[in-house]
Amino acid sequence: MPTFKSLGLSANILKVLDELGFETPTDIQTQSIPQLITGHKDFIGLAQTGTGKTAAFGLPLLEQINPADDSTQGLILAPTRELGRQIAEQLAIFSKYMDRVNVLPVYGGAAISNQIKALRKPQHIIIATPGRLIDLIGRKAIKLGNLRFLVLDEADEMLNMGFKEDIDEILNYTPEDKLTWLFSATMPPQIKKIVNKYMVEPVEVKVNTQNKVNKNIEHLYTVVRGRDKSEALKRFLDMDSEMRGVVFCRTRRDTQELAELLLQYNYKADALHGDLSQAQRDRVMSRFKNKSLQVLIATDVAARGIDVNDLTHVFHYTLPDDEEYYTHRSGRTARAGKKGASISFISNKEGYRIKRLEKALGIEFNKLEIPSGEDIAKIRIENWCKGILDTPANQAKVYEGIKDQAYLLFGNLSKEELIAKLVSNELKQFEQTTNDDLNASAGREERGGGRDRGGRGRGRDRGRGRSGGGRSGGRNSSGGSGRDRRKGGSGSSEAPSKRRKVSKKKKYFSK
Ligand code: AMP
Repeated sequence: MPTFKSLGLSANILKVLDELGFETPTDIQTQSIPQLITGHKDFIGLAQTGTGKTAAFGLPLLEQINPADDSTQGLILAPTRELGRQIAEQLAIFSKYMDRVNVLPVYGGAAISNQIKALRKPQHIIIATPGRLIDLIGRKAIKLGNLRFLVLDEADEMLNMGFKEDIDEILNYTPEDKLTWLFSATMPPQIKKIVNKYMVEPVEVKVNTQNKVNKNIEHLYTVVRGRDKSEALKRFLDMDSEMRGVVFCRTRRDTQELAELLLQYNYKADALHGDLSQAQRDRVMSRFKNKSLQVLIATDVAARGIDVNDLTHVFHYTLPDDEEYYTHRSGRTARAGKKGASISFISNKEGYRIKRLEKALGIEFNKLEIPSGEDIAKIRIENWCKGILDTPANQAKVYEGIKDQAYLLFGNLSKEELIAKLVSNELKQFEQTTNDDLNASAGREERGGGRDRGGRGRGRDRGRGRSGGGRSGGRNSSGGSGRDRRKGGSGSSEAPSKRRKVSKKKKYFSK
């Protein structure tokens, strides 16, 4: 098995990797680093995000920068400012023990004057979004005459976002003898054109495109009526207070509306979309990173490049049209070897889309039931009870008189009556949760639609409730009042080696 050392990296880099806990190189790192570190050839790396791409090009790039030379030797183009900044942060960490290598990210949405000022100092590596780079070139703020390495990261995304002309312009502006390293998840014709026009006999490396969807992700879908989606989402969030995730919506408006609705109900949620200013985006992202937010409601474009490692869930509030997007979205969870769940909300007529994804991506989906209002009430009461049990009786300064007053008022109630009243009072606060059975509602809609596919998308199916024990590898916290319903399953470690039919049902994930 290859080690970072055997890939030819130097001691200063090996030391950081050790500190970062990078034990073994990922596939793309194993295949790219030895090629790139020799610095002779153009290079194409076909790999998804989350596969360790940044280190795959970042480490060999750092190894070849000459810190004694003040000119810009490396330029990395990235589709979004988030990705740009993450690359810059990672390079700064990787180069911690090297002679000082200056790394500067420049991107739109931030004051250009500060970037121009920073560019007056020597910057060995610049990471840029294409639009801002063109702007800086136009203002003669950037000199690329001594550029030795150009990296195009997520090239397909840059083209999807309409940066084709900018990239052409940038490529024409850079010296001919530089090396170009292109990384992309896919190889559409437009990328091939760039390769043919600007690259010389590139070495091409492909990383498990067959299994491009991370195996640590559990793929689930739930059938829900459009109007019940927000209620279903709330119930899933309620089921698992440890959950942290991203909810993907199609439009900016959808993200905003959903975030506002969740906020109304005191969920720790916020929206991330293209209408926000950079300062607003930064604020949302830092709240998400420091865990003040449980969920981020995002559009595909805004969420690109989110690098938060311990996300447990991704929700597809609406399924993306493009299966590549499904992969991108799901890849926000189960990063760095952890487990995660990707849950798609579909209408009863969209089962075919799940099948299509299964086929195209070689993955398997299980059906997930929406928790009932009763399940949610149980969880809430259980948490509430635990909170009370954990509270020391003398925690707050209670004046004896006040306690006596409470004794007096409750004095005639039996323990049973008192508990019943307290529970009922507590539940009253949560009456927003409807008691509707959302699974059955989705099924009813199906019947209304006149195309009943043997009840597959339908309702309760209680008798068969074979769940397999819920989210495999998930947080197996104790308790979870829904748990007892599901016991008797074969445990949570069932490896999905063979593709099963979509119709395998699953109760909502276990706590
Ligand atoms: P990337 O695809 O570069 O965005 O990397 C995805 C995540 O995996 C990042 O959080 C990296 O820090 C982490 N990572 C990259 N390479 C390794 C490795 N060899 N071992 C463990 N974690 C890694």
